[in-house]
Amino acid sequence: MEKVLITGGAGFIGSWLAERLLDAGQDVVVLDDLSTGRESNLERAGKHPNFEFRYGTVLDRLTVDEATRDVDAVVHLAAAVGVELILRQPLRSFITNIRGSEHVLESAHRYRRRVLVASTSEIYGKNDAEALAEGADRIIGPPSVTRWAYSTSKAVEEILALAYHREMGLDAIVCRFFNTVGPRQTASHGMVIPRLVRQALAGEPMTVYGDGSQQRCFCHVDDTVEAIVGLLHEPQAAGEVFNVGSDNEVTISELANRIIARTDSSSEIEFVPYEEAYVHDGYEDMRRRRPDTTKVRALIGWMPKHDLDHILDEAIADARGDAAGASPAAR
Ligand code: UDP
Repeated sequence: MEKVLITGGAGFIGSWLAERLLDAGQDVVVLDDLSTGRESNLERAGKHPNFEFRYGTVLDRLTVDEATRDVDAVVHLAAAVGVELILRQPLRSFITNIRGSEHVLESAHRYRRRVLVASTSEIYGKNDAEALAEGADRIIGPPSVTRWAYSTSKAVEEILALAYHREMGLDAIVCRFFNTVGPRQTASHGMVIPRLVRQALAGEPMTVYGDGSQQRCFCHVDDTVEAIVGLLHEPQAAGEVFNVGSDNEVTISELANRIIARTDSSSEIEFVPYEEAYVHDGYEDMRRRRPDTTKVRALIGWMPKHDLDHILDEAIADARGDAAGASPAAR
């Protein structure tokens, strides 16, 4: 596998993946419309002789087709990102996810390329089982609630990828990411860690939604990228779905307290009722979301290496650089 196309490669996960592949001696083509991705994320990758950036959208079939023709494999990360954006622009999010994936899978099939499709833990909806294995039930509310519509759009992507695999022999892999975090993740799409860190550094109230007892498992982007690269190079991953995430659970209140402790912040926690937190209709929170990652571990030996304190320290350092305008991730 010499050359890899990353759709959405100017985004948070994509830009780290680009660097990792380039460092490993592979050629990388990034296709991104810079809607949520940022050129600054590619500052390092962009200096590499084996790197190519193509400005364009996955909604343009021809652009996707041409880009796919020129590579050996595709990692499809281009998608509507963040709960906030999805609530603000449900139609655009839905169309980007479904039509974009359709184009990517069609082209991958046409040129017989391996394709890894990024999916999400949102697939499981409200299923708050102790640990969610890939075959766990989806428990979702009505499609009129935007969050469930989003979950459904990602489910459609998975269905397409798996159907292409089963019926057409497409070499497709699906990865479900659980709360990936790390440097370059912006606070602007509502993700909790960059938001709380920014608030702590600014001495502002830290907005914990609901009663703060909801739990999440945060996975460092470096670990996520490791899983993507491992699966991309593993022939037996074809036609399979994999959870990628940490199983180390934390409540959002505890998260806020840890950020306060690590930043020496004078900020206080402000509990914000959900109705005030998300002014748009269509939000419902998950109480808990913990992956069972036995499958990916069994196949490629993957396990997350970074713990939450390390994740927080990096997010804090990134935000501090951000504030000073010194970081390439500055926004
Ligand atoms: N959250 C919060 N304060 C914020 C942003 C998010 O308490 O400023 C909560 C949110 O309600 C959810 C959790 O943090 O319970 C994780 O939110 P995020 O949007 O990062 O990811 P999700 O897991 O919901 O996709």
